[in-house]
Amino acid sequence: TADFAGRTALVTGGASGIGRATAELLAARGARVTVLDLDPSGVDGPLHARRADVTDDASIRTAVAAAAEEMGGVDILVNNAGIGAQGTVEDNDDAQWQRVLDVNVLGIVRTSRAALPYLRASTGGAIVNTCSIAATAGLPQRALYSASKGAVLSLTLAMAADHVREGVRVNCVNPGTVDTPWIGRLLDAAPDPAAERAALAARQPTGRLVTADEVATAICYLASSAAGATTGTALAVDGGMQGL
Ligand code: NAD
Repeated sequence: TADFAGRTALVTGGASGIGRATAELLAARGARVTVLDLDPSGVDGPLHARRADVTDDASIRTAVAAAAEEMGGVDILVNNAGIGAQGTVEDNDDAQWQRVLDVNVLGIVRTSRAALPYLRASTGGAIVNTCSIAATAGLPQRALYSASKGAVLSLTLAMAADHVREGVRVNCVNPGTVDTPWIGRLLDAAPDPAAERAALAARQPTGRLVTADEVATAICYLASSAAGATTGTALAVDGGMQGL
């Protein structure tokens, strides 16, 4: 279906994994899409791409304005760029905390600030943030990452309240463990990648990893006019892990 025909979308971290799958699905459904990424060199097909760093306010403002000019506005913003961290509070130093919060939390703040004027001018503007089950699951060895995603969840609810009367909806998805290049890198670093993959799959009641396409489908739903009455929610795409 071409239900996004005539719509324009920005996807941060759209060169890989969940962001790439989302950008491709939005484009396949008719949207004009610009990927903003640290390394957009592999992005091709119908997608526009711009190099941008969500930790650099000037870089993001310039890229958002240029993309809006090129596409004729921004109706949809997918704040997806994110990085991981492992360990307890004793394992990560202040610089690591500041780095992950800078990308995962302030990255959303900067990109949203730059895009909100366009979203407000749109009919049916929508922001979808890629949060994580880590925001609420209390996972071991993920203190910093969980705190960053907890902040994304709270920010999503607060932004939804701030912008609902301006016609801009704000929601997030909470994926479980998703089969992306990120998880591939984690597995490659494990002593026994196959055993580690099986352990990650077994942690989810469905017994398998979530696919990037499944998360992209959920993001597209929240970005679509079909979700016009939905704002300030977190949609779990986690193989049943929530609350377990
Ligand atoms: P990925 O590493 O495959 O892709 C992330 C993309 O973000 C990369 O293209 C990278 O270049 C880009 N990026 C990183 N820092 C950036 C910056 N400062 N500015 C601009 N772009 C930047 O990762 P993924 O698995 O697709 O994860 C995407 C999002 O999904 C992240 O927010 C992550 O926290 C979240 N998430 C992932 C999983 C999972 O299991 N893979 C689970 C829950 C949530």
